[in-house]
Amino acid sequence: MTIPASEVGDLLVALIRNECVNDGSPDSGHEARSVETITEYLGVAGRLFEPHPGRQSALWRVRGTDPDAPSLMLLGHTDVVPANPATWTHPPFSGERSGGWIWGRGAVDMLNVTAAMAAAFKRVLDGTAHPPEGDVIFLAVADEEAAGTLGARWITENHWDDVACDYLLTEVGAPALPTSVGTAIPVTVAEKGPNWRRLKGKGISGHGSQPYGTLNAIVPLAEAITRLAETPMPVDVTDEWRAFVAGWAPESDLAEALLDVDRLDEAIDLITLDDPGFARWIHACTHLTVTPTVLHGGVKSNVVPDSAVASVDIRALPGQDTASILDHLRKAIGPALAEEIEIEAITEAGASSSVASGPLWEAIGGAVGAEARLVPTMIPVATDARFWRSRGTVAYGIGLYDDSVAFGEFLGMFHGADERITEASLGLTADLIADVIGRLWS
Ligand SMILES: [Zn+2]
Repeated sequence: MTIPASEVGDLLVALIRNECVNDGSPDSGHEARSVETITEYLGVAGRLFEPHPGRQSALWRVRGTDPDAPSLMLLGHTDVVPANPATWTHPPFSGERSGGWIWGRGAVDMLNVTAAMAAAFKRVLDGTAHPPEGDVIFLAVADEEAAGTLGARWITENHWDDVACDYLLTEVGAPALPTSVGTAIPVTVAEKGPNWRRLKGKGISGHGSQPYGTLNAIVPLAEAITRLAETPMPVDVTDEWRAFVAGWAPESDLAEALLDVDRLDEAIDLITLDDPGFARWIHACTHLTVTPTVLHGGVKSNVVPDSAVASVDIRALPGQDTASILDHLRKAIGPALAEEIEIEAITEAGASSSVASGPLWEAIGGAVGAEARLVPTMIPVATDARFWRSRGTVAYGIGLYDDSVAFGEFLGMFHGADERITEASLGLTADLIADVIGRLWS
């Protein structure tokens, strides 16, 4: 089946222009706008979930011909992160078309895939596609960019029966990997676990003009953050990483180095010379990463601060649990200073993964064709897939892209400036999803 790329493009432009910006606050997002857009496109209303005014998700279901056959969900989020127009070539919410490209926040994360899913699902809904044996469910979901609190997390916790499924497709798909052996298509099968921590420094307030003998909360916290940033991040070669390197198949010297904990960092330094985006991604896929991201302290220039707070974005590899994370933090900060700093959890989640085999894997392999191979890929970011994986669903992130953007450059567009996609890639992804639906039960 060939789905017109322009049709997917028109829908993507509409979703970008809806400006469903999620700044993390409950009153942001306004995903009801995109639910309305998709409802108009599909021509039928879905079942709505709205845990907070405006934070709508919508679900559409086509019943399969065999009630016992496994079900497939297409899961696409409709929210996007904020964008600073000053750093963009085209305004980020214009959905501008230029030279085959569509520009805008969400063009790769993930309104492109959400639009492609809607297009493929529409063919199932209107009977253009062969009637599926199992249920096909399309869930346009809110609040992915704030940990699914008013979206996937809320829906899976409160309405599991409505969204239970055997197989699930969602983000992240990416362009083919740089390899000299055939075409290597990354398919996301695993993701790291977000483990954000809040660090608190305590002090005793006093007059800023007389600091002698006061306890300034900013000072120990700043020192702790500096030590965290300067301590090398623990490296680990996981089974997921081994599977990725085997599928990617870089030349053998490099492959060996990438699987050797003693040579890995050196290999990453070499890759960064040619492809800094790819090197950053490899580093994240092979290390516990620890990134200080927020710092607040003090209230006024002439008051000694009695409290200071920092947030640290920590991402755990499979096998790295809470104990090993805390162990790293305490060692990096040092035992004496650690006594002065309180550490509390903001989010705590393990890595999640799905097996890279079985009917859905084979359906995707069949859809990309014999000349390409699928590479089971772990991603450093969290997606809504984890809420289903933890309940036993096999979940993959997919997409197909033309060769207009290389893998490393593509990764840099996520939450970055000048996010854009070619209309041709939208058509490829929509056709891929439609083809996977056509193959899953055959
Ligand atoms: Zn996303």
